[in-house]
Amino acid sequence: MIMALAAETKTLLETLGCIVDGGDLAVHSPIDGSRIGAVVTATVDDIDDAVAQSQAAFLNWRSVPAPRRGELVRLFGNALRAQKYDLARLVTIDCGKPLSEGLGEVQEMIDICDFAVGLSRQLHGLTIASERPGHRMMEQWHPIGPVLIISAFNFPVAVWAWNAALALVCGNSVIWKPSEKTPLTAAAVQAIFEKAIAAFGDAPAHLSQVIQGERDTGAALVADPRIALISATGSTEMGRKVGQVAAARFAKTILELGGNNAAIISDKADVALALRGLLFSAFGTSGQRCTSLRRLFVHDAIYDSFVGALKSATGSMSVGDPLDGNNLAGPLIDEQAFAGMRAALDEARKIGGNVTGGERLAMDGVYVRPALVEMAAHDGPVLRETFAPILYIFRYHDLAKAIALQNSVGAGLSSSIFSTDIRECELFMSAEGSDCGIANVNIGTSGAEIGGAFGGEKETGGGRESGSDAWKAYMRRATNTINYSDNLPLAQGVTFDIG
Ligand code: NAD
Repeated sequence: MIMALAAETKTLLETLGCIVDGGDLAVHSPIDGSRIGAVVTATVDDIDDAVAQSQAAFLNWRSVPAPRRGELVRLFGNALRAQKYDLARLVTIDCGKPLSEGLGEVQEMIDICDFAVGLSRQLHGLTIASERPGHRMMEQWHPIGPVLIISAFNFPVAVWAWNAALALVCGNSVIWKPSEKTPLTAAAVQAIFEKAIAAFGDAPAHLSQVIQGERDTGAALVADPRIALISATGSTEMGRKVGQVAAARFAKTILELGGNNAAIISDKADVALALRGLLFSAFGTSGQRCTSLRRLFVHDAIYDSFVGALKSATGSMSVGDPLDGNNLAGPLIDEQAFAGMRAALDEARKIGGNVTGGERLAMDGVYVRPALVEMAAHDGPVLRETFAPILYIFRYHDLAKAIALQNSVGAGLSSSIFSTDIRECELFMSAEGSDCGIANVNIGTSGAEIGGAFGGEKETGGGRESGSDAWKAYMRRATNTINYSDNLPLAQGVTFDIG
């Protein structure tokens, strides 16, 4: 297996047009912990050069008509379509998610390219009625500058695409600092992007660059005043640091940080549907999604039967090699992730939690059984995100109290209610309901589509990316007032007659 993964990685990289000749940052596959390659990390001088080149590329690209910019993204989407399977396999080897999810991740890249191509003809502003005669007001959206994209290990390629496809049609250059845990997929995506650049013909050099490195590399890029917008995806701890540095120089940010997502299962729920929806949300990607379901509030009247069904379904879930299509969950990313999981379960037990599952499997790589924890108190590890397959379960009787508990944590990313009662569903989505950026009905907390704006509130960072009008964050807004009369009336009736 060990030789096989390294050899397959090499072949996949070559097929994707990527030459990785080794380097100082070793890469290990979570599938079995084996070394599958290495990449070269950037020096301080490399970072400085890359930002200068990105700035030069921006000055050219901003003047290219937006629909023509969309043509580049269309070509990139086509290049991804042609190599979807190979890239998806590499995603699975690099980050350990099941192949079906790797394929889904590449599909998400293709989808956002399609979205961005259409958007390239719709970057329009408003025309606004002026209070002054012979005047007209309007808004224009202009490119903003080099965009830094920092990504996390668990969506090693899709998150970059969500940002890059929009940033590029909006007229910006991009620099990508991928996770140090999944650098090979970034190198491969860059190679695919270069194919689109070649087919396009006259795009400026260095329009999109990858800078490999660890958090200090990311920090150096964040501090660079030439970077206009920072879109950073990762832990809340990371976002707190990035946000402060960016704020000190008034840089724009899109912060997509940790979640502590909850679902409410009403006594009026379609329980079979609820069970299916929450199993994927809680244990898909081994609980390593920002939108993974971590807390479950089950109505008293159905608690025993529902939790019993949940235990038996969870117990039958197959965990193992993510390249084997029979397995629904693969490994955790590394030993540190398992240490975090074990610590959270120990802490839960100490405050009265009753744990089912959570054992480590005797295999190379870090494979665990999903854990269900019936909690007596909404406290301790429940209040924070542990990036592992743990689902904390609570009884509730009063819906308003369940919603209040759901909202009582720091993060505000995703939430769901399962109910067939329209009053309950509407309350959950109302101003008095979920305080999250995503509030779903009869569907789990994870697995968002690209058409909606994606992001969360509070300690999730407040950013929005992907669909809807998220593109506006990648541009600067100019308000224009045009006087087509021969008078100069002042707004609000102010007079200033100098004779
Ligand atoms: P992480 O915070 O350890 O790292 C994420 C990225 O930030 C990496 O590229 C890392 O090198 C970089 N980084 C870390 N510290 C930095 C600093 N001070 N300055 C600049 N860059 C820095 O996160 P991870 O373990 O890779 O990913 C898991 C986390 O990401 C979870 O908390 C998860 O919820 C979150 N996540 C959020 C979203 C979202 O859209 N909200 C999506 C995916 C993952």
